Amino acid sequence: MTTFQAPKGTYDLIPPESATYLAVREAISAPLQRAGYGYIETPGFESVELFSRGVGESTDIVTKEMYTLTTKGGDELALRPEGTASVLRAALENNLHRVGNLPVKLWYSGSYYRYERPQAGRYRHFSQVGAEAIGAEDPALDAELIILAVDAYRSLGLRDFRLLLNSLGDKECRPVYRAALQDFLRGLELDEDTRARIEINPLRVLDDKREAVQKQLAGAPMMRDHLCEACKAYHEQVRDLLSAAGVAYEDDPKLVRGLDYYTRTTFEFVHDGLGSQSAVGGGGRYDGLSEMIGGPALPSVGWALGVDRTVLALKAEGVELELPSATQVFAVPLGEEARRALFGVVTELRRAGVATDFAYGGKGLKNAMKSANRSGARYALVAGERDLAEGVVQLKDLETGEQSPVALDRIVEELRAKAR
Ligand code: AMP
Repeated sequence: MTTFQAPKGTYDLIPPESATYLAVREAISAPLQRAGYGYIETPGFESVELFSRGVGESTDIVTKEMYTLTTKGGDELALRPEGTASVLRAALENNLHRVGNLPVKLWYSGSYYRYERPQAGRYRHFSQVGAEAIGAEDPALDAELIILAVDAYRSLGLRDFRLLLNSLGDKECRPVYRAALQDFLRGLELDEDTRARIEINPLRVLDDKREAVQKQLAGAPMMRDHLCEACKAYHEQVRDLLSAAGVAYEDDPKLVRGLDYYTRTTFEFVHDGLGSQSAVGGGGRYDGLSEMIGGPALPSVGWALGVDRTVLALKAEGVELELPSATQVFAVPLGEEARRALFGVVTELRRAGVATDFAYGGKGLKNAMKSANRSGARYALVAGERDLAEGVVQLKDLETGEQSPVALDRIVEELRAKAR
């Protein structure tokens, strides 16, 4: 018989580590929920065209990394490679921008798919928590989102992350800069692919990781020297608001990000313990995206933080999250009568909010106690026929080893108090 393995570039989330992933998702979303962001969930696949128009025809994500499929009905679909285009599509389709106050603030959490070359920290299936604020142009909104991400990382106990910040200009100043950059790049010694990129998406050349390319870029014109007055003033306000909130940032004039839709504010969070895949999250303003996918003008800003890499960052810093133990009480029945009685207690304890598990499968005392210890429970409840005859169960503190009988009709109350 063939056995199966998870597809290349994917991995299974299994206990106990999976608890850390859940906690990370929760930690990232908690600050958003306190800031008025509502939860949105969109399908795992969308029409290919949404991404080719939204993310950009010339991006790696669209040209190389999408998982596409044709349905039996002939629809061209893609597994979602990112969240923003889908969330904006859903907001437009459901008229969220018409019925409520602007900005429409949304957060999401889910799986994303990119056909990338797998390596440490880079997977073909990964998970993000993201946030989008749709329909307002206000530097305080850009600052809000960045601060919420920083607060999320801090609440997890992360320290070695840095915020890189840039402005990509708007439809006034970016085209002028783009032309100046193209002029400069056309004079360099570059391979054919990169030369082609100059014509389609010259800003991406700045992002080239190869040293030989980076060397030649030393004198390249930079967007920050070409920002129009409005973009300059906007960016200054974002920076001031971040500083006032105690958020440190580094100006990175070469930060362009891999998606075409960004305008003005762009940012990335990098973590220094992760090696080459150091970006733990990123985002920016995307004032033109709505129109690109057929909507009205809706200036917006958002980010997505990678859950997998945040977990790796926690590991790199040696941060252990304080997770509530999955099991607080473990019940061990000795004999058939005790089994029935203790099973009832287990159900009652669970209903009272105490995380409780049971020795299933008719294990002997020794094996059952092993299971109790492995479960991480603080207390074991042991009962045999003699205990039941006396109307008690034995309550054992697995940390101290102390054991004492407790009346059967008092045990739920007692454990509820202890578990608190
Ligand atoms: P992006 O939309 O590319 O800016 O991605 C936002 C965040 O998602 C990144 O900063 C990463 O943390 C995470 N991410 C993106 N692609 C991958 C991948 N292939 N594997 C794991 N995490 C990823």
